[in-house]
Amino acid sequence: MTSVVSSTRGSNVLEYRAPRPRLSAIVSALPAFSPFVGPETIERRRGAIFRARIGANENPFGASPLVLEALRASTHDMWMYGDPENNDLRWALADYHGIAPANICVAEGIDALLGYAVRTFVDAGSPVVASQGTYPTFSYQVFGHGGRLIEVPYDDDTADTDGLADAARQESARIVYLANPDNPMGTWNDRPFVNALIEKLPENCVLLLDEAYADFASEGILTDKDVGDSRVLRFRTFSKAHGLAGLRIGYVIGEQSLINAFERIRNHFAVNRMAQAAAMAALDDQDHLDAVVRQVADARQRITEIAAKQGLSTVPSSTNFVAIDCGRDGDFAKRVLNALEEQSVFVRMPGSPPQNRCIRISAGLPAEIGYFEEVFPEALAQASEQPSNNP
Ligand SMILES: *Cc1c(COP(=O)(O)O)cnc(C)c1O
Repeated sequence: MTSVVSSTRGSNVLEYRAPRPRLSAIVSALPAFSPFVGPETIERRRGAIFRARIGANENPFGASPLVLEALRASTHDMWMYGDPENNDLRWALADYHGIAPANICVAEGIDALLGYAVRTFVDAGSPVVASQGTYPTFSYQVFGHGGRLIEVPYDDDTADTDGLADAARQESARIVYLANPDNPMGTWNDRPFVNALIEKLPENCVLLLDEAYADFASEGILTDKDVGDSRVLRFRTFSKAHGLAGLRIGYVIGEQSLINAFERIRNHFAVNRMAQAAAMAALDDQDHLDAVVRQVADARQRITEIAAKQGLSTVPSSTNFVAIDCGRDGDFAKRVLNALEEQSVFVRMPGSPPQNRCIRISAGLPAEIGYFEEVFPEALAQASEQPSNNP
């Protein structure tokens, strides 16, 4: 280890060359930037908070009053670690889904669970299959664990379940990832297609079925495969419909031996006590959940109408967001997004062509959607005036 100290007259310049421990081969090969720019980062850069925070698919309608009460009550107990087995919540979830607690693993959100899943099934170089441009945390976790990602293009903005199955068989993939309904497009695959994908998986391959938007999904979308079927793991979260994104809590449902594999590697104290209490209370308020789903449906309808007024189409959605097709290329959509940002509206957009012709608008509060409606025509006009980066 070397450290160099130099001083210049009149000022103290301290140069310190940090020791250089050797990074693992996997980590040193990763890109040096964070792919997840939060709205707070943009707000710090702009020096102002957003007037419409409609970019992260959060639920601004908020959590149930029962949840807030449970949270208040649990503050006194914060000196204690949470139950590492998440026992009471697992029993409540088992009751909710009509399955056994042994088929459930609770963790600090789906994002963490996707990391655990990749770690469970992937060795360095293992092939993994997903739709090109789908939920980026999955690929982030694949790269972080040294997996090899094989991407299958969407078919008409919808995951191509046949294409995913074919790629999985061709490559002898360990994992196929499918978000159903999908993020960032909001589209879905009906149950028969998901079930057919499961049937077509090669041996030794598991489907990670990300059902973050399950509560918004219309009838006939979610798979009815038995929880004992070891070819599929289903991921659920309290972040979206339940309005608890900031608490970080979700779970995976699956066959017992697979759940046991998660038990071997998960961070046992990561789910905090307040999150456990809040999640249990959330399960007890179906009326609140139904009300959220109705408000989200209204917001989706409004976003669709706002787009139509500008002559733009939207992608059908079974989630709490709508992808607006800006009608041109990704470069144009990016300029629309930047113009919205300047107008204090936070939205996001898909990362891969041709889906990056869209911007993705979350089901915000009526006032937020109203403000978006106000500034959207101007943002489109601005984006049209600016020259393209790809002349
Ligand atoms: C929002 C989202 C998640 C994140 O879930 P957490 O439980 O908050 O980590 C996972 N998957 C998809 C598809 C999402 O859209």
